[in-house]
Formats: sequence, structure tokens, C-alpha cells
Amino acid sequence: MALRIEAVPVGAFQANAYLVIDEESRRAAIVDPGAEGDALAARLSATGVTLEAIWITHGHLDHVGGITGVRRTFPDAPIWLHAADRPLYDNVAAQALAYGIPMESPPPPDRAWNEDDVVSLASHDFRIVHLPGHAPGHVALVGSDMVFVGDVVFAGSIGRTDLPLSDPHAMQASLARIAAWAPHLVLHPGHGPSTTVAVELQTNPFLAGMARPLGARA
Ligand SMILES: [Zn+2]
Ligand SMILES: [Zn+2]
Repeated sequence: MALRIEAVPVGAFQANAYLVIDEESRRAAIVDPGAEGDALAARLSATGVTLEAIWITHGHLDHVGGITGVRRTFPDAPIWLHAADRPLYDNVAAQALAYGIPMESPPPPDRAWNEDDVVSLASHDFRIVHLPGHAPGHVALVGSDMVFVGDVVFAGSIGRTDLPLSDPHAMQASLARIAAWAPHLVLHPGHGPSTTVAVELQTNPFLAGMARPLGARA
């Protein structure tokens, strides 16, 4: 059975937290609880699922600010983050203060993403792809038919590369990798609506010219 994906825009930046639910086993993961963690946890509890993991695409405040609240309800759900984003993550309360947003420092991550790691929710696998540029430790979680792509690419746009620890050159290499993904993959971004690789190759000016030659395979 397919996973149920619920996008929940949260906080001042309206970042998408994604509830990833396996109906059959009643197990769930959450991607990027960026704010309103207690409400996200309540929503998960109401559906009667067990939260197995907190999967973080990158360490910006609008993607991690709700972790503390989620962990109040689900204290055993491990937090996954790439080690290269620890400088962002560990200072996230200070980041938030700069925007005037009060925030509790999240607990330290329990697990570190590495390229080609595979994490599972019930029978559904996600492979980790390291996509630096917007943030040094940014990852995407690539499933069989969908990708949680964080702030690397959005419908019609891409993530900023003028932030502390951003790297515009690394971003170009990361975008080239996305352009080579299977066209049918649904992209679930950190902000705004979901899209597909095929649509972005045709309509996203930042991916224009990166399409594979016709007939080429990923
Ligand atoms: Zn970001
Ligand atoms: Zn964001």
C-alpha cells in the first residue's frame, strides 16, 4: 500500500512539515517539523500512529523549530541530521532570535545521515542523497515514487544560496543531480506545492538546460 503523505505548512515561514504514514502498520515518520511541534504531534497521535523517526533535510530554523514539541509526545523517535549541518542546528535558537522568533533549542540529533544510507518506514525505503548548496549538510530522501527535497528545489524556483554556509557552486552540482532523476518522481519541497522532476525540467528556469538527452537513463 502506498504511503499517505500529509503536507502541513507551519510557522512564520510556512515550511512544509510532512507526515509520512504507513496505514497498514500504523507507523509514521515526520519530515522537517519546523514549528508547531506540539500540534504536529497531536495530529499524529489522533491518527493512532507510532512515530518512528524525525527526518531532517537541513538545519535551518524553519525546518527544525518544532522538534522539541514533537519529542514531548514521542520521546523515543530518533532525530536524523547530516553532520555538516550541525553548526546550523546547534545555533538554531540564536538564528531564531535574529528573526524575533522565540525557540527552544532542539535536542541533539541521534543519527547522522550519510550519502546512500537507506532508511525505511515499514516496507518503504528512502535513500539519502547529499545535496549541499542551500545548506552544507542538506539531504534529500529519495523513495520509489517521491522525494523529500527540502529547500534545494521548489516548484518553479530553488533555495537561497546567499545564507551563512550556503555555497552557490555546490548548489549547481546538486541541481544537476536532481535533473538526472527519474522524471516521474514527485518532489515534496520544504515550501510551497509539490511537483515532479518532469515538470521542473520543463518549467523551472534554474533547471533549464540540465535535462538529460532524449533516451538517456538515470
Ligand atoms: Zn533552508
Ligand atoms: Zn526553509
